[in-house]
Amino acid sequence: MPYKYETHMHTSQGSDCSSTPGAEMVRRLYDLGYSGCFITDHFFGGNTAVRGELASYDWEVRVRLFCQGYEDAREMGEKLGFKVFFGLEYARSATEFLTYGVTPEFLIDHPETADMPLDRYAALVHDNGGFVVHAHPFREADYIRTIRLFPHAVDGVEIYNCNNRDEYNSRAKWYAESYGIPVTGGSDSHHFWCHPCGGIITEERLESPSDYLRLMREGKLKIAERDHSKDLPEPQNPWAQTVRPSIDRLPKEVYGKFFGGEKR
Ligand SMILES: [Zn+2]
Ligand SMILES: [Zn+2]
Repeated sequence: MPYKYETHMHTSQGSDCSSTPGAEMVRRLYDLGYSGCFITDHFFGGNTAVRGELASYDWEVRVRLFCQGYEDAREMGEKLGFKVFFGLEYARSATEFLTYGVTPEFLIDHPETADMPLDRYAALVHDNGGFVVHAHPFREADYIRTIRLFPHAVDGVEIYNCNNRDEYNSRAKWYAESYGIPVTGGSDSHHFWCHPCGGIITEERLESPSDYLRLMREGKLKIAERDHSKDLPEPQNPWAQTVRPSIDRLPKEVYGKFFGGEKR
């Protein structure tokens, strides 16, 4: 029996461009028949939701705020019997690396990830047991000034991004093939009502992120193409109920450590 996993998705607690909290994103994927997902919110060099006053806090607090969408998603996943893995989308000058196989603790331990060149970041992730996939390498948009490729730093290339134009995806495929880089795909979804049903289809259950890497290397992933037929009607004001990260949701000991005393 094949399994389906989302490899590229956002939550409103981690990503400023997402309107849907982690738990709701997971509930929707579960209803669509997925077995699991990787939460890949925009980290601090990208369109993160940890901004404004939140961005001025200590590094550990910022990382914990960044992870609230994932925590929320994982909790819902546990209730449903749906696998939720941690990930992130790391950006420098709008070039983005999806990152898997690392943990929130890895980020807490490495404040230098706030600002690293992409090749050095990839090396640090590799040293800590993780891997990186170049997200939509040929996307063109106002926020992307330059197309930059790192064929010797990445473990995979996203050759099918449901939010991309087909020509950008076919260039990504051409790039990956010419260097022999393993390939994958993802939805890049940001809102519960509009999930294009992308991601990967596997013949075996993913027990850990390294299973994903292995299947990618073995060429055993089937990439799901976009299908918007199951979209729901867009809510009247999708941003009205958006949940953003909050220091009030920090674990008690963390709150006490950085802000002293009881929670507000
Ligand atoms: Zn986004
Ligand atoms: Zn993304």
